[in-house]
Amino acid sequence: MPNTDPPLDEPARVALVLERARRCATRVRVIAAATRDRAGERLTEIGELAEMGIVGTSDDGLSIASGRVAREVLAYLGPLGLPLIEHAEDASLAAGSVMRAGPIATRLGLAGWPPSAELAVVERDIALAEETSGWLHVTHISTAGSLEAIRRAKERGVHVTCDVTPHHLAMTDAWVAGDRRFAWEEPSGIGADPFGATLDQELAYDARCRVNPPLPSRSDALALLGGVADGVIDAIATDHAPHPVERKAVEFAAAAPGIIGLETALSLGLAAVAAGILGLARLLEVMGSGPAALIGEERALRVGAPADLVLFDPGARWRVEAGTLASSSSNTPLLGMELPGVVRLTVADGRITYREGVLEQS
Ligand SMILES: [Zn+2]
Repeated sequence: MPNTDPPLDEPARVALVLERARRCATRVRVIAAATRDRAGERLTEIGELAEMGIVGTSDDGLSIASGRVAREVLAYLGPLGLPLIEHAEDASLAAGSVMRAGPIATRLGLAGWPPSAELAVVERDIALAEETSGWLHVTHISTAGSLEAIRRAKERGVHVTCDVTPHHLAMTDAWVAGDRRFAWEEPSGIGADPFGATLDQELAYDARCRVNPPLPSRSDALALLGGVADGVIDAIATDHAPHPVERKAVEFAAAAPGIIGLETALSLGLAAVAAGILGLARLLEVMGSGPAALIGEERALRVGAPADLVLFDPGARWRVEAGTLASSSSNTPLLGMELPGVVRLTVADGRITYREGVLEQS
């Protein structure tokens, strides 16, 4: 994603990332900024960037505020076969909010983010994609309303696709109150507490639960799981957002939003499979071949083709600890929890890149 500092808004910066990516343990694809400085005004050199192999453009972290500019980006990218990857959030509706609006935000006394903040941009961009015959990809959708808008648009033939993160499928706004049950588990406190969540004194206001878009209501998380199962959601993507400890070890409202997800994504999906909420074949499709197909690539096990695969033991379990994560960051509310599914080996582009806890350097 291009929301680095400086942003990936120039061909030279994209070239640098592509060069460094050659030595990585995984295949890396670049999404360039849609506008210069991600300022939402002037388009980047989209033609030149497309020739370099970017897979889309996005001002992620922000929506393109101006409908006119978003329309221009869609019209420009469409003939190139590339999507505008939109972080859908109306800045005026989301201003000042730190968690999902609802009874739990009210109980915690935290400013709430209304689902309309996402839907307003999704509806606008669907209309623009329809008019321009462009391709809209909405990233990290988090509300049932967006899901339904995308479902209807797909039904009438608009070129729109979307992804959801593992944390918006598995975690809910009750996690901000300290509840650590997955969306598909019966929440605690229902019936006993008019707000629908029991405050856990030790875990409430955990800044590691602050993320943008915020963790959804339970009913929205269940709707999103349904959207993965029935195919309206095309991919599970982590929105992996590492932060140093000092940006999270602060009060909830002051914390940087973001959760790391690369190393826990498969396990959260397998937990949903174990709960009977998702089929294993659909999970693997939506995490592997599905996203690859979206960017025009094939992932298949075939004689003579370079292998891209993950070997994992679905029956083994592991505990998420800062020391067991390969990431330099550990900003995830899953720390201390035990999850199903242990990765034994990864192969990227025909190269073994990870084996039993060890990253293989190339
Ligand atoms: Zn985003």
